Amino acid sequence: MAFQAASEEVEHQLLQSTSKPITNINDIGNIVDKSFLNDTDTKLVLTNPWVPDTKYNFPIFECNKKRGLKFQHKWLHEFKWLCYSEIKSGAFCKHCVLFAKSGGVGSQC
Ligand SMILES: [Zn+2]
Repeated sequence: MAFQAASEEVEHQLLQSTSKPITNINDIGNIVDKSFLNDTDTKLVLTNPWVPDTKYNFPIFECNKKRGLKFQHKWLHEFKWLCYSEIKSGAFCKHCVLFAKSGGVGSQC
């Protein structure tokens, strides 16, 4: 019954990922939806946004599922303006979050 074992494993992983509480108060996802950013928000984005650790298991983006493309941690080092949000499960450009309120997941700079 190899198939059954495999499906149980998937179910277990789903339970694990959905039951995990999101506690990153400095996640940039908390800020992107705000219509007005105060100084604290701005400072947080520029100096202290939440950053996933190198072991972080990034989800495969819905639009990239066919290619299996995942967010890569090295991008955070290559692109200083890039910020990953666990809440939004996506990457954001810090500058767009701060200065262009139309920016967001998948938008072009
Ligand atoms: Zn941008």
